[in-house]
Amino acid sequence: MSVNDSTVAFDSFLAAEPPSEGRLKLLVAAALCPFLPGWSARRTREIPLRQAAEVHVACVFLAILFLMAISVVWSSETFTTAAVRTSFSEFSRDLAKHWDEATLVILGTMLAVEAGFFALALLLMPWGAVDEPLRASFSHALRRVWCQSPHVWLAIVLIGLSAMGIDRLGDAWSAAHPVTYPQMPQPPPGMQPNTPESDAFDQVMDDYYREHNRIWLEARNAKPWYLRDEELVPFSLGFCCGLWFFVALLRAVGVYRAAPRSTRPPLCEECGYDLTLMPHDGRCPECGEPVVVSLGPEARLGAPWARREGGRLRAWWRTTCMAISNPFALGRMLRMRDPGTAHRVFLFMHLPVVFLVGAAALPALALAMRNVAPETGSGPPTPELLLVALVPGVLCTVGTLVLVLATASLRGLVHRVQDKRNLLPGAIQHCCYLAGYFVCWEVFGGATGIGAILLGLQEWFRDWFERYLPPEFAAFELWTISNLIWLLVYLRIARTGIAATRYANR
Ligand SMILES: [Zn+2]
Repeated sequence: MSVNDSTVAFDSFLAAEPPSEGRLKLLVAAALCPFLPGWSARRTREIPLRQAAEVHVACVFLAILFLMAISVVWSSETFTTAAVRTSFSEFSRDLAKHWDEATLVILGTMLAVEAGFFALALLLMPWGAVDEPLRASFSHALRRVWCQSPHVWLAIVLIGLSAMGIDRLGDAWSAAHPVTYPQMPQPPPGMQPNTPESDAFDQVMDDYYREHNRIWLEARNAKPWYLRDEELVPFSLGFCCGLWFFVALLRAVGVYRAAPRSTRPPLCEECGYDLTLMPHDGRCPECGEPVVVSLGPEARLGAPWARREGGRLRAWWRTTCMAISNPFALGRMLRMRDPGTAHRVFLFMHLPVVFLVGAAALPALALAMRNVAPETGSGPPTPELLLVALVPGVLCTVGTLVLVLATASLRGLVHRVQDKRNLLPGAIQHCCYLAGYFVCWEVFGGATGIGAILLGLQEWFRDWFERYLPPEFAAFELWTISNLIWLLVYLRIARTGIAATRYANR
């Protein structure tokens, strides 16, 4: 039986549509999915895609209704029934007048949302993949992403309500604390430019702007912190909700699933030759590799880390070194049938370090600027800066996860075409085991980034480069090129390691 035949056998396994779940069970799982994503995913693990699509469509519909409702309430003067009713009739009149544009906007938005959900499913596909046809890995991810739609709806409601609430509070504050600004001075009639008269007027205007600014700043500082920047609360909430959704999706997609029974013939791990009926003490007729290496008890034991070989620390160190310096050997160890969760634990162990290194970048830059280029006027890192520094920390952490998932997903698609086999379970394991590489890369990227900024400020560098191209651009290019090399090396390592799983028997 060829690999193609086994794919057909897998497909017939999948063709048996799982039975639909009861509405109530589905409703409970949908309501609780933001808070208990793993639990909800386990309860709806096998629902048909059609049912998941129903949940998703219902959420999109509810989100559109909510957005319309909030725009009506927001545009009404007060919260009284009469005001809302007036606002609603205005809204429906506008909608009736511009129905074609409204339809286009809604359709366009829905298309973008659907494209986003498909892209998310494609990205998350390796996370929950087992030894199955690639189509099954994708439909599992799509089912999970669709079933997680109530979470997006909740986020939209939270952000919308907070934005409206802040806006109302801001209006109430302004009404209770009126601020009077000075009248803008008018130029004397017939004033000519570049005369003593116009110079005096410029002086008056300067004073006016200074006074205006002073009053504005005073009024702003008198406000409570959440009203000083009206976008701050909704934006921060949006950021947190995005993070929450991503983590919940990882939990949901990563829910345990048993792989379907494999019908693949035993293959030579070296060349993919069919070893059916070959004696265990023989050699592959194609490449001469001992059969026992491919099918013996020592074949595909799992990464050293998955077995905690020689203790946690040794296993961690061996896996990190192997993943980077000998990806082929590690690829030959990975288990495809039951990938387990050891690789996820391995990756997550490194994420706090990734976060801390990312969060240290801004304070480190501030310190370096202060010592190397004091003329730029940088002070010591302030508490606000430390708070803002958390953002790059979070972005680096999420970026690492996205890079792992995207690499595994892309390589999985490539091997599906090349080898007609789903290598996602191996791909995600190998990319996770490269966590040590990511930490080194991040430290290098941060250090060279700071170095590039400081270099762009150096006199000799500016003088030398100014003749060819803008110095800031040149410094940025130096940083980009050195990091591009890290990216290319990473992609090469990952490719070698993943390719070594293509003839896996277990
Ligand atoms: Zn062979």
